[in-house]
Amino acid sequence: QPLVGNLIGEGHVNYVLMYNMLTGIRIAVSRCQAKIRRPLTEEDYTARHKFSFDIVGNELTPSAKYDFKFKDYAPWVFRELREDHFHLDPADYLLSLTAKYILSELGSPGKSGSFFYFSRDYRFIIKTIRYSEHKFLRSILPQYYEHVKNNPHTLLSRFYGLHRVKLPHGRKIHFVIMNNLFPAHKDIHETYDLKGSTVGRVYPEDKAAQNPRAVLKDLNWINRGKKLELGPEKRALLTEQMRRDSELLKKLRVMDYSLLVGIHNMQRGNRDNVRSNTLKIFSPDMPAIRRKATQSKGPSSPEAIAMRRIMRESDPKRLGSGTFKLPEEDTGERQYFLFYQDEGGLRATDETNDGLDTIYYLGIIDILTPYSSVKKLEHFWKGLQADRHKISPVPPVEYAERFFRFMKAIMRSGDHGEKVEDDGNIK
Ligand code: ATP
Ligand code: CA
Ligand code: CA
Repeated sequence: QPLVGNLIGEGHVNYVLMYNMLTGIRIAVSRCQAKIRRPLTEEDYTARHKFSFDIVGNELTPSAKYDFKFKDYAPWVFRELREDHFHLDPADYLLSLTAKYILSELGSPGKSGSFFYFSRDYRFIIKTIRYSEHKFLRSILPQYYEHVKNNPHTLLSRFYGLHRVKLPHGRKIHFVIMNNLFPAHKDIHETYDLKGSTVGRVYPEDKAAQNPRAVLKDLNWINRGKKLELGPEKRALLTEQMRRDSELLKKLRVMDYSLLVGIHNMQRGNRDNVRSNTLKIFSPDMPAIRRKATQSKGPSSPEAIAMRRIMRESDPKRLGSGTFKLPEEDTGERQYFLFYQDEGGLRATDETNDGLDTIYYLGIIDILTPYSSVKKLEHFWKGLQADRHKISPVPPVEYAERFFRFMKAIMRSGDHGEKVEDDGNIK
């Protein structure tokens, strides 16, 4: 996978933060979950529930290893999103997010300084976000909710929860929980982060050759002559959904989002094709283990030691229950979503709608950046240097339209390269 991180255990720099996040989620989410469902009210969108954790504990919060404060935002709205619209099982959700030694960390893959953590079954991603993004998500929550309700197959990030941890010295960390677009069982052979912009949107090809997990960009896609191979049926459905999703983003005046595309080549399959029972049992760490196993250089190599440690730590007996399982792509929540139905993704098809040997994992990510004054400034400065339509920070309406045009184009042909070079816009 392009995203495989380091397992966070005790002693890791972010262990305490991790522990606090997960403890907060466990208590807050199960508290809300324990109540009887009721229809949402207007206040639910702005609600925030506060929890104060300490080593002693009280009637509201059990004792925790550390002192910290936790806020749960719009818990009822997210509960309804999870249960009714994202088809998550409440128990599963909590279990995935709150087991011991749970997450692996991927240090800031973007420029924004956000951190990404995976739940140990690889199903969920925790992303730390800026305060401005947090504020923005709260402000658009009613529209986001409506959109998801009316568009069950939306490609937009599925937000499952919005929370904040406050550490004793006052530092506040905001974070969202969202769907991992990439499945645990499948190797992703190529990853693209596409914005529909061409200026600076390239990952050096020489470096890409050495790094199969590189996240490639628009120009790599164009120069490699890539195409989303979808027959008329899927193409029409996907286009319509993208149109609706980008309409919303336009209306919300969001910028900078991208279409994330993971490509699994079925001929290549998974690197070692091993899905033995042993790996199944320790499946929460499977992606990491698989990698380590393939490069293992003997019983005392660092890889082997790490692998034994991971296996020990993920011993179901030590976790207290053996119920951990990797979601099967076709039985989990993904079965409900049109574009995630074929082994968790969207299988390529030919012009007669017959299946080809590629599976795409697609979604629109990073949708919480409003066109703020910062962006306006950036637009001004960059606009002095290059054709202002080709560069990334154009105002939201242009951004959405350019994005949608590009997305339509990548489904059409593999050779739209020149057209882009011509004028920066794909016709
Ligand atoms: P920047 O603002 O600099 O673009 P960021 O910190 O906001 O960065 P994102 O753009 O959200 O980060 O994501 C960075 C990368 O992380 C993506 O290109 C993708 O590889 C991976 N990623 C993000 N969200 C998901 C997701 N839901 N599923 C799988 N991978 C993801
Ligand atoms: Ca981004
Ligand atoms: Ca971002």
